[in-house]
Amino acid sequence: MQLTQDHRDLAAAVRHFVDTEVNPFADEWEAAGRFPAHELFPKAAAVGLLGLEYDPEYGGEGVDHSFQMVAAEELGRSDTAGVSMAIGVQSMMATPSLARFGTPEQKAQFLAPAIAGTAVTAIGVTEPDTGSDVSRLRTRARRDGDDWVISGQKMYITNGTQADWICLLARTSDEGGYKGMSQIIVPTDSAGFSVSRTLDKLGNRSSDTAELVFDEVRVPVRNTIGEIGRGFQQQMSQFIIERMFAAYSAAGTCDKALARTRQFVHEREIFGTPLATKQHVAFRLAELQAQVELVRSHNLRVCEMHLVGEDITRAASVAKLVAGRLVREVADTCLQYHGGMGYIEETWTARLFRDVRLASIGGGADEVMLQVLARLDGLPA
Ligand SMILES: Cc1cc2nc3c(=O)[nH]c(=O)nc-3n(C[C@H](O)[C@H](O)[C@H](O)COP(=O)(O)OP(=O)(O)OC[C@H]3O[C@@H](n4cnc5c(N)ncnc54)[C@H](O)[C@@H]3O)c2cc1C
Repeated sequence: MQLTQDHRDLAAAVRHFVDTEVNPFADEWEAAGRFPAHELFPKAAAVGLLGLEYDPEYGGEGVDHSFQMVAAEELGRSDTAGVSMAIGVQSMMATPSLARFGTPEQKAQFLAPAIAGTAVTAIGVTEPDTGSDVSRLRTRARRDGDDWVISGQKMYITNGTQADWICLLARTSDEGGYKGMSQIIVPTDSAGFSVSRTLDKLGNRSSDTAELVFDEVRVPVRNTIGEIGRGFQQQMSQFIIERMFAAYSAAGTCDKALARTRQFVHEREIFGTPLATKQHVAFRLAELQAQVELVRSHNLRVCEMHLVGEDITRAASVAKLVAGRLVREVADTCLQYHGGMGYIEETWTARLFRDVRLASIGGGADEVMLQVLARLDGLPA
């Protein structure tokens, strides 16, 4: 696949958005533990970021997935991963099921404002007792006439304190395991919904992460996305898109960190010569850049497969696993070559080191990716 001038124009627009609307406020939002999503998202929407692949009828750009790849990679270059992740939640984690399986009425009511950035969204899957094993989730939606009455808890929910609606995965029958779950849109102004805790995190500190309580929350059954009882399967498809966001943005993060470090090692003199002249340093940075190129090639391949409708379960799991590990290695190495200053908060390397730790945990831990791959390889994982 050949990237076109349109892709380059989008990349430039997203980079400009990040440079002017995100990076200048990164320190302030990191210190505050949140960014103002209702102020920022309409600006993100203005560059098309929140609805690239979605139907123009609901305000989307109607372009293909390759544009999402380009945009996510640019977001990965931001100075604060929390904001990039929050935008990723809005565009590639909380809304894909609605765009794919939702009714026209649901899309008009919930997707259109999400694309416009006037509504902030969240994805609610993880619970205090279960994350990796989605089959054990307990949040229950009991049917009462034309309503669901929802009780349970969700944990580590990005945008959780600011969201206007949540794409919630809940049990709608007692079948257990992977059966009988549904995806339900829960407006956060519903009675019985509350944020019980805002979580203080190691990294991604500009993004709010919350524990949510659903205490007999009543929402109409018509808020169910797609088929009742197919929520797990629909969420698995949504997770695949989430994993690609992680892989695409990691490539951008790596690229920027390595470029900044190459510049630094040219400037920093050690034992009478620039650090860049030490073969070990030069080779290590070249090796990591080579690996980033491989990740980017693989990302491109997954994108192409997705565009022609191939199953990308395996390829997306490879992408998430390898890119997540690589971005952690890159952050560690960049910090190392900055020496003591790399460990100090005023240097970008410290924040990056903290932020990227999530890459191997969120959106499916490394071991979950390995479990998917092992199973596909016929191993009894
Ligand atoms: C900052 C942040 C933001 C998040 N945002 C959201 C969000 O918006 N929405 C949402 O629903 N969730 C969100 N999460 C939750 C995240 O997806 C989960 O933390 C993740 O899926 C892991 O689940 P868990 O924390 O329950 O860990 P567990 O499932 O308890 O796993 C613990 C560890 O066990 C290991 N492990 C897991 N499976 C296996 C296996 N099969 N074999 C061997 N080892 C294994 C892994 O190392 C894993 O880290 C977020 C988390 C964080 C930290």
